[in-house]
Amino acid sequence: MDMSKYPAEPFRIKVVEVPNILNREEREEAIKRAGYNTFLLDSQDCYIDLLTDSGTTAMSDKQWAGLMVGDEAYAGSKNWKRLEATVKEYYGFKHLVPTHQGRGAENLLSRIMIKEGDYVPGNMYFTTTRYHQEAQGATFVDVIIDEAHDSTIDIPFKGNIDLKKLEDLVNKVGADKIPYICLAVTVNLAGGQPVSMENIKAVRAFADKHNIKVFSDATRCVENSYFIKKREKGYENMEIKDILKEMMSYFDGCTMSGKKDCLVNIGGFLAMNDENMYTQARELVVVFEGMPSYGGLAGRDMEAMAIGITESVDYNYIEHRIEQVAYLGDRLREAGVPIVEPVGGHAVFLDARRFLDHLTQDEFPAQSLAAHLYVEAGVRSMERGIISAGRDKITGDHHRPKLELVRLTIPRRVYTYRHLDIVADGVINLYKKRDSIRGLKFVYEPPMLRFFNARFELI
Ligand SMILES: *Cc1c(COP(=O)(O)O)cnc(C)c1O
Repeated sequence: MDMSKYPAEPFRIKVVEVPNILNREEREEAIKRAGYNTFLLDSQDCYIDLLTDSGTTAMSDKQWAGLMVGDEAYAGSKNWKRLEATVKEYYGFKHLVPTHQGRGAENLLSRIMIKEGDYVPGNMYFTTTRYHQEAQGATFVDVIIDEAHDSTIDIPFKGNIDLKKLEDLVNKVGADKIPYICLAVTVNLAGGQPVSMENIKAVRAFADKHNIKVFSDATRCVENSYFIKKREKGYENMEIKDILKEMMSYFDGCTMSGKKDCLVNIGGFLAMNDENMYTQARELVVVFEGMPSYGGLAGRDMEAMAIGITESVDYNYIEHRIEQVAYLGDRLREAGVPIVEPVGGHAVFLDARRFLDHLTQDEFPAQSLAAHLYVEAGVRSMERGIISAGRDKITGDHHRPKLELVRLTIPRRVYTYRHLDIVADGVINLYKKRDSIRGLKFVYEPPMLRFFNARFELI
């Protein structure tokens, strides 16, 4: 590999964490105890933990220092004021309601906006987002472009919304049944694929025409901004923070999981411009999260999130972040391993259908591949396929998503390129002996969000 393509770490390491490094036999025992579900492994037993990029960020020395100036007053905390001002400055929204994490904000948004029988179109679903929409009686409708469902098509903005699909939905159910469009930047379940500014603008124009609101799932909006800078004409010379602010200007508000692009271990928020909606959100947040000035967070956590927001738009940070993920993708591609193309912002996704083409989807190829990768290299990954998709609430049958993936999610500022070499070597070794990998069957299937606690055994 020509390493000059990949930016070196733009930070120095001040604190280290030492995990257990188990041998293969110990890892075989550990995965059996965990019911072949990587969610049920002990974190200390995972040498390289790529389960998620959520809340796994290494905070900066400034953020840690920020924890010391936490103002833990029940109301009117100065950290809340700082966070509110920071969100206004970088995201542009007038009002902020902090929440304990992203799903807290999704709960509030869904409760405020959705009536029984509504439809909420989105560019592919996210588990908790769809859960909260459905819990309020809405039907989620996937309006992402078809290409997003094909792991082999390499186009720059694979997270875009298909305007034709939106139009069809409006014609079918009527605009008054669509309280808002949920537009995620980037699209997690499509592989961290970005949405172009052009598409966001087009969706805004469409929504205005039909008097529909547009909210962003802004969880990875800084990563999306980097892709716009790199791939979209007219943005190459713009600063990340200006791209982010322009992007957010097309939305009525957003839900945010601070655990991703705000560079913190816990936190989130709901932001919006509308006064009336803000009033409702302030009432609801008291019931579900905490007072509107802390929303289930400690003052110090809000301080760390405000600092994280300012650090997240630094070009050196986001360039290294995205290109490090690209490095892992490049190594796997060179070895012929089937991955989702193009590589997105936060993760490399193995295409388990093509990787384990001797298994049917009902033998849970992605779940099995994740379990085997742990045994092979001590690397923890996550299934994103039939298990995560759950069951249809009417028919009771599995949802069968086209994409059957294993996600190798890279935490922010945590691992070096050498760590990623261990991941790549482990995946490549498994690929060489893929024919020997068996499928799985359920031993225990929880009724809700089953991927968290399900247990399996080898077929
Ligand atoms: C993580 C995530 C959420 C939910 O946020 P939490 O902080 O985990 O509650 C919502 N949408 C997307 C795209 C996510 O990745």
